[in-house]
Amino acid sequence: MRESPVPADDDFEFSIVPETDQSFENALATARAGDRLAVDDGIELITTGTDTDGIDPVRKEQVLEAADRRRAAVVGDDVTFVANLNNNVTTACNTGCLFCNFKDSAHRFEADSDADHAGFTKTPAESRTAVEDALEMGIYEVTSVSGLHPGFALNDEHHEILAGYDDPATQVDYKPPTVYDTDPGTYLDQMRAMSVGDVHLHSVTPEEAAHARRGTEWSYESVYRALRAAGLDSAPGTAAEILVEEVRDVICPGKIGSDEWVAAMEGAIAAGLDVTATMMYGHVENAAHRIHHLKTVRDLQDRTGGITEFVPLSFVHQNTPLYERGVVSGGASDAEDELVIAVSRLFLDNVENLQSSWVKFGDAKALKLLNCGANDLMGTILSEEITTRAGGDHGEFRSFADYMEMIGAIGRPAVERSTDYRTRRRIDPDDPPYGPELGPRADGTPMLGGRAAVSRDVASADD
Ligand code: SF4
Repeated sequence: MRESPVPADDDFEFSIVPETDQSFENALATARAGDRLAVDDGIELITTGTDTDGIDPVRKEQVLEAADRRRAAVVGDDVTFVANLNNNVTTACNTGCLFCNFKDSAHRFEADSDADHAGFTKTPAESRTAVEDALEMGIYEVTSVSGLHPGFALNDEHHEILAGYDDPATQVDYKPPTVYDTDPGTYLDQMRAMSVGDVHLHSVTPEEAAHARRGTEWSYESVYRALRAAGLDSAPGTAAEILVEEVRDVICPGKIGSDEWVAAMEGAIAAGLDVTATMMYGHVENAAHRIHHLKTVRDLQDRTGGITEFVPLSFVHQNTPLYERGVVSGGASDAEDELVIAVSRLFLDNVENLQSSWVKFGDAKALKLLNCGANDLMGTILSEEITTRAGGDHGEFRSFADYMEMIGAIGRPAVERSTDYRTRRRIDPDDPPYGPELGPRADGTPMLGGRAAVSRDVASADD
């Protein structure tokens, strides 16, 4: 009996479709042998064979087992995670991606606007306070991903260039910060503010980098070099969604294209930064698009070697325009999630670390995916709200005690890691409290007590 249909794309006439000249058996044999998979192999594995419709449960288990073995061979049994803070600067954004419930139209943030919104913009001083507080609680990494606020520019020179356009709002999505109720400062101001002590600052996605150079001829490398000099340590490879134009045209027509995403990543790596890569799937794309995306990431890694981890992000459909307008009726099935993780492990033979995101998958499935090829369980994701409440029980957060309980439940060793995976600390389950210990001000004291509630509603933004 077959489990659930491969994602429906009946409503879209895509030119890339899951059809191959390969067989499932051949593709599985290639995977088991550890040989590099071709695109057709990947399509066969992720569909459990294009010879029939739907996902075959027996074949699926064969793929998952091959991926789990590969994971064990490549990175062993350790399950890693990082102590981190999410400090997003602003939710103001005019890009209008149809999968996003994170942003608010920027005009609502203007000082003379009467429009209600639940969003926020932080000043550099507010960002610094959030990081300072979290550092005292032991975090190692600050992750910061924001909307494309029209008043945001790389630096003062960038403000001058943007203001020099005849119609800046229309031509380069720019309005001076004085128009808004809160001035986010410049990208460089925010980097300097959040780069406190030896904390690792993980920020500025390709989409944000494009915003930080809009209206100029600056190269991505030069922009990332300036950001690095201001304190940036690595760049998140979000905003990737599906790196195929016919899919981006449907879900995020206002966003940079695939080539631009790749160029930004190459610029970041050339500037000396580590990067991650992501894929957001489970919306309108089909199985072939997913494999083409993986091929783009694998090619980028072949050229650069700069990708430290790959992060598949299962589309959270609630409260998104894609769902509310009836373009999609839901997200990926459990079987699809498992196969995406497994085939990512098998196809990306040049990326060591594969993340299972508890924010996107929920705890139970996130743990299951650690047996399908994943080896990393994300981070504590201390939020600023939690930080300021110091012991509050709302927002997104996983304590080290939570992590020990979760990872212990699947019988694997828990390992605190640095963002770049170069520093690791295996945690003794018989010796609480468990940490964190790697953060620049961590002394082993638990960050917060108790298990915090998780809001998955905030998880749809990919920027
Ligand atoms: S995904 Fe990013 S760029 Fe797109 S609307 Fe949301 S915040 Fe803006």
